[in-house]
Amino acid sequence: MAREINHLIGGKSVTGKSGRFGDIYNPNTGEVQARVALATRDEVSQAIMNASEAFPAWSMMNPQRRARVMFEFKRLLEANINELAELLSAEHGKVVADSRGDVQRGIDVVEFACGIPHLQKGEYTEGAGPGIDVYSMRQPLGVVAGITPFNFPAMIPCWMAAVAIACGNTFILKPSEKDPSVPMRLGELLLEAGAPEGVLNVVNGDKVAVDAILTHPEVRAVSFVGSSDIAQYVYATGTAHGKRVQAMGGAKNHGIIMPDCNMEQAVKDIVGAAYGSAGERCMALPVAVTVGKKTGDEFVERMVDAARNLKVGVSTDADAHYGPVVSAAHKAKVESYIQMGVDEGADLVLDGRGLKLQGNENGYFIGPNLFDNVKPTMQSYKEEIFGPVLQVVRAETLEEAAALPSNHQYGNGCAIFTSNGRAAREFAAQVNVGMVGVNVPIPVPVSYHTFGGWKRSAFGDTNQHGPEGVRFWTKIKTVTQRWPEGDIGDQAFIIPTMG
Ligand code: NAD
Repeated sequence: MAREINHLIGGKSVTGKSGRFGDIYNPNTGEVQARVALATRDEVSQAIMNASEAFPAWSMMNPQRRARVMFEFKRLLEANINELAELLSAEHGKVVADSRGDVQRGIDVVEFACGIPHLQKGEYTEGAGPGIDVYSMRQPLGVVAGITPFNFPAMIPCWMAAVAIACGNTFILKPSEKDPSVPMRLGELLLEAGAPEGVLNVVNGDKVAVDAILTHPEVRAVSFVGSSDIAQYVYATGTAHGKRVQAMGGAKNHGIIMPDCNMEQAVKDIVGAAYGSAGERCMALPVAVTVGKKTGDEFVERMVDAARNLKVGVSTDADAHYGPVVSAAHKAKVESYIQMGVDEGADLVLDGRGLKLQGNENGYFIGPNLFDNVKPTMQSYKEEIFGPVLQVVRAETLEEAAALPSNHQYGNGCAIFTSNGRAAREFAAQVNVGMVGVNVPIPVPVSYHTFGGWKRSAFGDTNQHGPEGVRFWTKIKTVTQRWPEGDIGDQAFIIPTMG
């Protein structure tokens, strides 16, 4: 009998009743290792009811006591980081050291959440008018929800839930049905840290559960991270039902390689950013734009060398640079994009298809792939591949190179590799993309800054974590007060001014 993953509702493990399940594969072997219950609309409603019941007490608890729960949550995550990383790798397929990074990035956001009382303080003006004071407060919204993708099952739930809960909201987390075990553990550890029952509910499921969240009148805000078409659907449906929605989507991040860069370092950086986690990162760097023929030739030559020497292995192999992709369907999709690139006329100088790992022949492994002479008109360039595939586009000038990320449908991240500060500064200021790296291949902002892309990489206008996250998960109320002594004059029919 396969292990069964259920729901965490009202602080208790609740067995799914839908009779519908999703298979959880071991990407190293292709075998089913567990199954996850897929919630019905009623089960989602049950979780929302529990969160709703937990809201008054949690939102009224003083902020530093909520923060203390976050401090303890952080301690427990740190104490369990190895167990969490192994669990994460077993379902996702990324190597254990990389999974530890995924958990650590989550811990960083919990650490940020420990200081949220400071950001939730309102503003105060004494004497805004005669005897009149004005103050504002940031209040939690109520029951809120997060819908997360498979590729960062520790970090992304923490982006959302840690910030929302520290602000006083109660939360419904609907993790990816491909790797739900770590999100379930996060729920259990938060309970252990002292969060009252119902503050964080983890409901597993698919579109049925997502639609139940998006249309339920009690849910005040929804944060989503996943692919762009679904992000757009979540944004449109959630806002049509009166909710505040932020919906992060796909990506196609470009790295501009300037002739004056430190080429050896740039190749080292990009080989990790393109192929790490088998390319399944929204901040991966799958497009390198080289400026000038000499730069392009040198980059491709060095990159083929570097990529060819990568070790692809099972997720528990401490020497492997990256592991399998998440599913057989995803492997087939990535390989179909590689074929598309070939058919479109790009030069496949390194072909990673057909990789079979001895003893793990049914695992979802793809070797590193490198395309040269990719053109911006090609479909395989325009779309997100989300696999170990690096596409090199040749440009003649920085202007031509910088126009590519600016004009692409996605605008999550990008990077420039150069030793020219003025060129880098100009690029960072002008590029039509939300997060920029200067000699940094994966410019994921630290937790007290904020994460979010532009164009089809994000729908809605508020980013994840940092002060922006606090703004998303709270609403502001402004109070104008006076305490007059006796009568203060006649009725007023004109709009009051403070003179
Ligand atoms: P996905 O869109 O398939 O799934 C994301 C979530 O949406 C899951 O919880 C899933 O159950 C749900 N979902 C799937 N189909 C749905 C439907 N038809 N209706 C309603 N809900 C549905 O994404 P994924 O494959 O899990 O994750 C990879 C994608 O996420 C990539 O496109 C990647 O770029 C993106 N991503 C973006 C960011 C970012 O911050 N911009 C971060 C990580 C991942």
